[in-house]
Amino acid sequence: MCEICGQIPCHPRCPNAEEPDGKCTCIKCGYGIMEDDEYLETAEGPVCMECLDDMSTRELIEICGEQLQKA
Ligand SMILES: [Zn+2]
Ligand SMILES: [Zn+2]
Repeated sequence: MCEICGQIPCHPRCPNAEEPDGKCTCIKCGYGIMEDDEYLETAEGPVCMECLDDMSTRELIEICGEQLQKA
């Protein structure tokens, strides 16, 4: 087990973690997004589908830079 993060494999933010070998890195989970993987390019950076699946509708709207209106 890693002495720094205590996880196997390392937590993505752990300095011992291997560099993600994807084309880009998800800003939410820190894992690499592989070629041909679908992801959302947001204002803050790429977000992988797994993280998008975990988000609420409200979070999705906000990460797209949109705002809910009140009637
Ligand atoms: Zn670690
Ligand atoms: Zn992710």
